[in-house]
Amino acid sequence: MCCGGKSSEDGTDDISSGDIPELQKDKDDTNVNADVQKLQQQLQDIKEQTMCSICLDHLKNMIFLCGHGTCQLCGDRISECPICQMAVERRILLY
Ligand SMILES: [Zn+2]
Ligand SMILES: [Zn+2]
Repeated sequence: MCCGGKSSEDGTDDISSGDIPELQKDKDDTNVNADVQKLQQQLQDIKEQTMCSICLDHLKNMIFLCGHGTCQLCGDRISECPICQMAVERRILLY
């Protein structure tokens, strides 16, 4: 009588571990991306419309007679419109 040989304790095969099925890939993945890109584009457009086109850092809160505008900081520094080059005679500050 030798080896009492515990034959494999029941099912130590690790069948149960891992192997979680990959999350189902969304077919619309690319569409979602396109939507996000569209939104980002729109956001960009809005930003361009509302942010100073010189520094892109401050809200556009000053406009000139030509209808273009910049932020107050940039507007105070320039003597002609950065967009149409019209001389800035009057600055209108928006509050
Ligand atoms: Zn600015
Ligand atoms: Zn202009």
